[in-house]
Amino acid sequence: MMIIQVQDLVKRYGDFVAVDHLSFEVDRGEIFGLLGPNGAGKTTTIRVIMDILQPDAGSVTVLGQPPGRAKAQVGYLPEERGLYRKLKVMDNLVYLAELKGMSRPAARERATGLLERIQLEDWASRKVKDLSQGMQQRLQLIASLVHDPEVLFLDEPFQGLDPINVERVKGFVAGLHQEGKTIVLSSHQMNLVEALCDRILLINRGQAVLYGPLAEIKREHAPNAIRVRVSHVPTDLPGVVEVEPDDGAFNLALAEGASPQEVLRALVDRDMQVQSFEVSPVPLEDIFVAVVSGEEEEDDGLA
Ligand code: ADP
Repeated sequence: MMIIQVQDLVKRYGDFVAVDHLSFEVDRGEIFGLLGPNGAGKTTTIRVIMDILQPDAGSVTVLGQPPGRAKAQVGYLPEERGLYRKLKVMDNLVYLAELKGMSRPAARERATGLLERIQLEDWASRKVKDLSQGMQQRLQLIASLVHDPEVLFLDEPFQGLDPINVERVKGFVAGLHQEGKTIVLSSHQMNLVEALCDRILLINRGQAVLYGPLAEIKREHAPNAIRVRVSHVPTDLPGVVEVEPDDGAFNLALAEGASPQEVLRALVDRDMQVQSFEVSPVPLEDIFVAVVSGEEEEDDGLA
């Protein structure tokens, strides 16, 4: 079931095209990665979906309705954060939930549970300004979902967090996913978020570069590299075009379309002692760079 549908969206700032004919869908219950470098158009896209900006062309629906209608079902962690610094942590959360139509007792209960889950329960009656930066960011995160929305937009939720807080927030997001929430995760730190995402839209200069299930994208763009630990590598392995010794193991490069499974089978068939065998994972960032630089070469070719 589709939660968000964006069709041929265009958004300009003056003459500058920030979002350039972008189309994608977000399905119920998935973690959808809206990825791309700074300035790619991620925040602009989210602001249109959140009804903060009006599109110049194209259409957007949220839970089947125009943006801005389903407010109680949508949560948003904006890139620029803001809480009432002089108000207590709990009062901030209750206030925000009440704004979205939750009753005070329900809001308190929900806020208490979330504070525990993000490990801030001891800070409920402290003022926001007394919290550390990392704590304030975690608080901001739960503030965006205190009204228990069905779909949550997190714009750069890891920005400025230290590694410990990154792990906490990742764990929290994974927990929301397990609960069945739909999450749109925007980030320029592809390598940090890719493990969380079911499907992604990778954008560059407002345009879609890659779109689809992450596993499929990885499969399509696999560099076909294997790292194997054996005594030696026979010269006639199927599909192997390059062998490079590396720290007691070997890195094998495969021809396009060659199968790592066949290489393994060939080694085993020859009774070789395979101590380890791994197909190298490609970081999404490398795929992005490869695709974008390929496109730019094409552009140059036309010029
Ligand atoms: P991202 O979230 O991917 O970093 P943004 O959507 O914030 O990207 O920005 C996309 C592009 O639009 C950037 O080049 C940015 O400088 C530009 N931009 C964003 N907001 C405005 C604005 N209010 N006026 C003019 N240009 C803007």
